[in-house]
Amino acid sequence: MKKIISLLIAALLLISSGIAASAASIPSKYSAVDKGLVTPVKTQGNYGSCAAFAAVSCMESDYIKQGYGTKDNTDFSEAYLFWYAVNSIWNDEKSGYYGDGVPVANNVYMQGASDIDLFSALKTDSGIAWEYDFPYSPYDASRMGDYTDSQRFASGCNVRIKDIVELDVSDRDDVKSWILKHGSAAVSFNGTRFYEGSNGTVARNNLALINNHEATIVGWDDDFIAQGLFSSFVMKEKGAWLVKNSWGEEWGDNGYFWLPYSDPTVSTIMGFTVSVNNECAVKYSYNGYAAYFYGKEVPVKGANLFTAEQSGVISKVAFYVYEDTDITVGVYSDNGDGIPDTGKRLTGFKGHYDDEGYYTVSLSSPAKISKGQKFYVVGEYSNNCPLENSAFTSAAPEQSFTFIDGEWNDTSEDRIANNVALDAVITGKHSFGPVQHKDADCNTAGYDMRVCEHCGKVERTVIRPQGHIYGEWKQAGAGRRADVTVWERTCSVCGEREVQYRTGNGKVISLFEAEELIKESDVFAGFLDNAVAFFYTFRNLINDIFRTGFFRLLTF
Ligand SMILES: [Zn+2]
Ligand SMILES: [Zn+2]
Repeated sequence: MKKIISLLIAALLLISSGIAASAASIPSKYSAVDKGLVTPVKTQGNYGSCAAFAAVSCMESDYIKQGYGTKDNTDFSEAYLFWYAVNSIWNDEKSGYYGDGVPVANNVYMQGASDIDLFSALKTDSGIAWEYDFPYSPYDASRMGDYTDSQRFASGCNVRIKDIVELDVSDRDDVKSWILKHGSAAVSFNGTRFYEGSNGTVARNNLALINNHEATIVGWDDDFIAQGLFSSFVMKEKGAWLVKNSWGEEWGDNGYFWLPYSDPTVSTIMGFTVSVNNECAVKYSYNGYAAYFYGKEVPVKGANLFTAEQSGVISKVAFYVYEDTDITVGVYSDNGDGIPDTGKRLTGFKGHYDDEGYYTVSLSSPAKISKGQKFYVVGEYSNNCPLENSAFTSAAPEQSFTFIDGEWNDTSEDRIANNVALDAVITGKHSFGPVQHKDADCNTAGYDMRVCEHCGKVERTVIRPQGHIYGEWKQAGAGRRADVTVWERTCSVCGEREVQYRTGNGKVISLFEAEELIKESDVFAGFLDNAVAFFYTFRNLINDIFRTGFFRLLTF
């Protein structure tokens, strides 16, 4: 047994191996913005929630691409996704996720998050929420968070995650094909230094080395060049990704910038797709939080034992796979002998996946299942079998099993790996509770609604929020460096505050940039910056070696 490369590090190591796919149908220039697939630029403000903004924008684009909404009426909640990603504790002993969870942080929105955090939150099938139910407050974290578990599964949106895929950063055509199909992909890179070209374009300046920010790729131009003095420092070759940032529309080029293909800090590019939930569908899963997966080597099978909580049909299976995997999934009834694949085979699926990721598949022949019936989901993998491996997870007896050297083993007895990443969805009939009423306020929707007690589906009439009524911008003070000023305006109805940072000539900049300007004028801060950079490098190295969940790869 040996540890295999984790989700987040894999991409880094592949950079030099670049295998080019057929480029026949891929244009040299593309913008999902021009196609109306990209929602307006948002503001993350003072908080380290960039990863949620990047992922949510991808989900919005995929939702629009599938024809469910437009760029103007599709707005999912970053506050909701970030809260449940960073604050995921499973205390309910009856829940399959019991024993899994990220420790509660003191101030959830101040810290960063990794793609793994978002992945763990999304794959539980709690889905995503509307912005007007869980509005983001860029400058006052006390206005968001403290959401409950019941809110999580009754988010009002009925939009769930379908696939979360790690695209091949070394294969531009892989990324481009994904964007043509789904509109966007989330990219992690260094967000510290930018270069404003003489033609007004803003590009990432590739002098920094550590990835610390995440944003959304929405297009590309193979011929892009950053024009002006020192542009050769910005780009080693022509061509760049068009990227939507989360620092407001005033920042960069209307909130966008160009990320050179040659940027050395790009470490992951992730794709997110969604499905709309109208049926009563409940996911059965044991993977609440997986900081890293541990791959049991081939030849290997993995299995999970579930008990149906309602009668219906097993309609979907979902699973994590490493890159280039053939997977065969079989669903078996439990015949009581403790062996996963000796019962009656109820249904199954066979497929191949080039990219590592989490995939949800609708079964062509759904299998009937009755309340209380036990069933096994068995996966046979041509590549390694992914299991949870982190300090925040555990497996109880009779949940997960692996088949190694001709024998099935219960993973609760495995010292390193926990539950198998192999899920099932049972589709049945909704059972709606009583109608609840809530009034609207400035930015939170009001409604009359009822919630299905099985799947969390929400039926409701929405009273849309009327929006804040802001007063004039007023200067609130100066930064430590005299030419950075802070401006504020306040909603006269609810008191929500909006903040801007401006340079001496009135240009609006992000908090990130304001802090950089201040640091540049401060020798000690510059030293500190390098120390922090060293820590990040060291931490990533530790992650790489030990696959621990302790030093998670955070982006802000
Ligand atoms: Zn339901
Ligand atoms: Zn207001």
